[in-house]
Amino acid sequence: MVKTFQDIPGVEWVEGTGNFITIDEEKCTGCGNCLKVCLAGCYEIVNKKARIRSTEKCMECGACWYVCEDGAIDFSWPAGGTGFRTNWG
Ligand code: SF4
Ligand code: SF4
Repeated sequence: MVKTFQDIPGVEWVEGTGNFITIDEEKCTGCGNCLKVCLAGCYEIVNKKARIRSTEKCMECGACWYVCEDGAIDFSWPAGGTGFRTNWG
């Protein structure tokens, strides 16, 4: 059985207030690295370009930014952040 984020004990998800990740279409080559690495399913490829599908489950791990070799991904962090908050800090 594949577990979902709702199965993780002690974790509360904090909803986002809007898109805080932007993708520069000029720089994006559509390689799909961001899509493959994102465990939260935030990305999709449309017309050979990456697009944010939803940041609702984004964990702010930064993996997408790290694997984007073309520097197409930018973050503008919202005050207070989004993603998961645990009982342990
Ligand atoms: S920061 Fe992490 S969870 Fe959020 S979109 Fe990037 S890879 Fe996905
Ligand atoms: S990793 Fe970067 S270049 Fe590749 S699809 Fe994602 S945004 Fe585009």
